[in-house]
Amino acid sequence: MDLHFFNTLTHRIEAFVPSSKTVGFYCCGPTVYDFAHIGNFRTFVFADLLRRLLEFKGFKVNHVMNITDVDDKIIQRVNTSTPPTTLSDYTKKYEEAFFEDFRQLNCLEPVRTPHATEYIQQMYDLIAKLLDNGIAYQTPDGSIFFSIQRYMALGGKYGQLVNINFDETKSTERIKNDEYEKESAADFALWKARTENDGNIFWESPWGEGRPGWHLECSAMSSDLLGKTFDIHVGGEDLAFPHHEDEIAQSEGASLCKDGNTAPVPFVKYWIHFSHLLSEGKKMSKSLGNFYTLRDLFSKGFTGREIRYLLLSAHYRESLNFTIDGLNAARSALARLDECLGKLKEIANNINPTENNSQFIQQFDEALSNNINLSQAWSVVFDWVRDLNRLIAENKLSPQDAANELSAWERVNHVLGIKEKSTVSTENIPTEIADLLAARQNARKAKNFAEADLLRDTLKQKGWLIEDTPKGPRLKKI
Ligand code: AMP
Ligand code: ZN
Repeated sequence: MDLHFFNTLTHRIEAFVPSSKTVGFYCCGPTVYDFAHIGNFRTFVFADLLRRLLEFKGFKVNHVMNITDVDDKIIQRVNTSTPPTTLSDYTKKYEEAFFEDFRQLNCLEPVRTPHATEYIQQMYDLIAKLLDNGIAYQTPDGSIFFSIQRYMALGGKYGQLVNINFDETKSTERIKNDEYEKESAADFALWKARTENDGNIFWESPWGEGRPGWHLECSAMSSDLLGKTFDIHVGGEDLAFPHHEDEIAQSEGASLCKDGNTAPVPFVKYWIHFSHLLSEGKKMSKSLGNFYTLRDLFSKGFTGREIRYLLLSAHYRESLNFTIDGLNAARSALARLDECLGKLKEIANNINPTENNSQFIQQFDEALSNNINLSQAWSVVFDWVRDLNRLIAENKLSPQDAANELSAWERVNHVLGIKEKSTVSTENIPTEIADLLAARQNARKAKNFAEADLLRDTLKQKGWLIEDTPKGPRLKKI
């Protein structure tokens, strides 16, 4: 069955027909100014699921996820940091933390993770094209803006993803002080001239000192790595406008000629937007303060696989309200699955599979092919668990059957990406790790909590989490 999903560009559910067996796939990545919250990760986990699903369907996926390592928020943070720091030192710390969390959620490493600051030349090239065909213009302060009016006059379409009411845009958009010379309120910055607040963070462009606009970064990186037209572009729903609309305008605008006699080269064939994770009924966000980082949840004893399961429990076009109760329910659901997998392993006793339970795989495939219907896919999985439990209870499952079922689960789980539960007993903890744990306990006893925290971090870097339980600390392999 062909994979179907909702394409924001055509506003309907469509069958996915890629241009080749290798799918060009771009996901707007994190802005590395702070720790990402689990709302951000809902988007990245969905992107990961989609990539895995495409692989399950036999495609090769050229998955690109950029790192936004320069933007207004980052610059502001760097310039107000104590002790003083540099752009690269500052962003490196949060990028590392991001990938640590990304791995905890068992997200597959994208094929490419370009940094915006490595693509400044490609951004200049894009600006030069847009200036050349008259779509971009420079204001007296040295900034360069994209003119939506001129773009449309040359045959470009603005408002492909969302309906835009230009009158409303004019009256509601606040024109920032440094943008007062724009021709029109809806125009957006491609290049921002250096201001006092930027400190030492600027580039020497052909048009003067400054820094790139955020929208431009993604257009430059995606076309450089995936070509002028590629298959799938994804992101959280808040990015559809203006970020993605502006990406389309820049990329398609660059393909237009100044005489207006060319049709734009389409930028992306399928746009997919993921609905938000909510907290207390509102979008989880830094600005509202209603967010959890992965680290917050680890310290409450939850694991990456439980969080991944929860994030994947609702449809990608439905928002999901995050609660701790939801995480507890995720834990119980996974315990049911683990118990069944444990029994299968015991019965199979390491023999090789001869075939798969193809009906299970087929039903799972159908559920996800149908607009990525995750709840249907999970009920296929839990029906399978229930049926197997019954067969096992009746002693009707042979070692060969069990091995075959396990192999079917592996196929299915290539898509779901639920990490195996770590089954670590005290016997197989390496001495170095056991020693670090003992040192941490001693530090705690001596009330040297800074030292204890440091040892906890060291253990984490080495891939071990400490869970403090009423019976004392327990180590878990990440
Ligand atoms: P940022 O690091 O702010 O650039 O955001 C990274 C990604 O997280 C973007 O695709 C956002 O759309 C997405 N995002 C932000 N908040 C949420 C949320 N509450 N739920 C789901 N995705 C989100
Ligand atoms: Zn982007």
